[in-house]
Amino acid sequence: MISFNVPPRVGTEEQYIGEAIRSRKICGDGQFTRKCNAWLEEKTGIAKALLTTSCTHATEMAALLADVKQGDEVIMPSYTFVSTADAFVLRGARVVFVDIRPDTMNMDEKLIEDAITERTKAIVPVHYAGVSCDMDTIMEIAQRHNLLVIEDAAQAVTSTYKGRYCGTIGDYGCYSFHETKNLSMGEGGALLIRDIQNIERAEIIREKGTNRSKFFRGQVDKYTWVDAGSSYLPSELNAAYLWAQLEQIDKIQKSRMSSWNLYYTLLEDLQEKEKIELPVVPEECMHNAHMFYIKVRDLEERTRLIQYLKENGVNAVFHYIPLHSAPAGRTFGRFHGEDRYTTKESERLLRLPLYYGLKEDEVEKIAFNVKRFFGA
Ligand SMILES: *Cc1c(COP(=O)(O)O)cnc(C)c1O
Repeated sequence: MISFNVPPRVGTEEQYIGEAIRSRKICGDGQFTRKCNAWLEEKTGIAKALLTTSCTHATEMAALLADVKQGDEVIMPSYTFVSTADAFVLRGARVVFVDIRPDTMNMDEKLIEDAITERTKAIVPVHYAGVSCDMDTIMEIAQRHNLLVIEDAAQAVTSTYKGRYCGTIGDYGCYSFHETKNLSMGEGGALLIRDIQNIERAEIIREKGTNRSKFFRGQVDKYTWVDAGSSYLPSELNAAYLWAQLEQIDKIQKSRMSSWNLYYTLLEDLQEKEKIELPVVPEECMHNAHMFYIKVRDLEERTRLIQYLKENGVNAVFHYIPLHSAPAGRTFGRFHGEDRYTTKESERLLRLPLYYGLKEDEVEKIAFNVKRFFGA
């Protein structure tokens, strides 16, 4: 059986975890966390990157930094992971869902402005499959209405929009290093902070509301409780696992990209025959081969294809059930405007196996079976 996902592992993880253990510093913010933060800052050019215990927690930090309060509204797509909404719902906000574009599965930037009310606090674009949203339009709307932009870039680490890294364009960006993402630390993530004036408070929130980071830099002579916060810093053991992967990111990305490109090439004629649709990557976007999906006719055909692939040794999976149709989505949110594409497109989408180390002949076998299903 070809798995849908295998957590990335480059081979030096054990060595670095061993180093962390022997250094007798295994709690947060040791050498590996600092190296990962610095790597992210250098790679993306962001003012500050802070490793967190998850992307969910990075988004919670962003919601705290944005001072999201009871009664505020936050605009996001319904076609996303629960964490995108949870982080704001925990602060008492209402979620306003807008429809997606059928080509990229990203929030339709043309529908955002109509969903804005005097309660709106932030726009939360999600870069689905590592393909950026139309950030120029989103930033322009946010500026005009004085709204914050918090990017859910969980899937978009190293992806770019017009040459700028996803997660660095809005006020805050949230990355995931969960085991299902391109780069992993088991559970983990990072918060990217664009404006220097927000860095100090982010460090405080991440350290239980204390100025401990400042203390360690020798900027204050004792540390104390200065704000509300929580514990959002990961252990050094997790950071050591991630560091091994950051060092070898080119190898990981090359493997994923070649699987992605091979899928595309092998399945292109099915698209020409109008049996399936392949992912669309707008010209201004550089994706990171996070996901390879196809779209089939409808839910019924997808269910049959999943079953067919399973019988032929391939584990392919569907993705999000739109949040507005879930019980909590109905309680905490509302869908603004018409659901033209969110439900319909989500029912047609099927993700094929894609992970670091997936072999060429495995991609060929998967594509062969997809084609055979369609009689091609
Ligand atoms: C994976 C993912 C998350 C959650 O990431 P965690 O690190 O598991 O908290 C949030 N949003 C999106 C779009 C994701 O794909």
